[in-house]
Amino acid sequence: MQHNTRLSAIIDHLLRRASSIQTVRLAVGELVSFTDAQIRKQWEESPFAHIPLTIRRVPAQQQCMTCFEKYQPKQGEVSCPQCGSVGAKILVGEEFFLEAS
Ligand SMILES: [Zn+2]
Repeated sequence: MQHNTRLSAIIDHLLRRASSIQTVRLAVGELVSFTDAQIRKQWEESPFAHIPLTIRRVPAQQQCMTCFEKYQPKQGEVSCPQCGSVGAKILVGEEFFLEAS
C-alpha cells in the first residue's frame, strides 16, 4: 500500500512526545486522494494504533479565475457554477495536518 508521507511525518512528530498523547485529530482536505480507510490503515500500522484517531475532512473550496466566484466543487466537477469557466484556483481542500492531540 502507498503510504501518505504527511501522515508518516505526523507520526514521527508524535513519537517524539508520545507520553502525553491520548487522542489525535487530523484535518484532511477533501481533495487529498487518500481515503479515511487508507489513513486509518496506516495509523493502525503505527506505534499509535491503540490511540483513537479522528479524521475531519475539510470541504474543498475553489475560486473561479474568470469571475472570481468562490464555490465548493462537487465530486468530479470542475466548472464554475456561475460562469461555467474551468479555470479555478484551489483555496481549500489539500491540507493534511495535525489539528489536536
Ligand atoms: Zn466563474
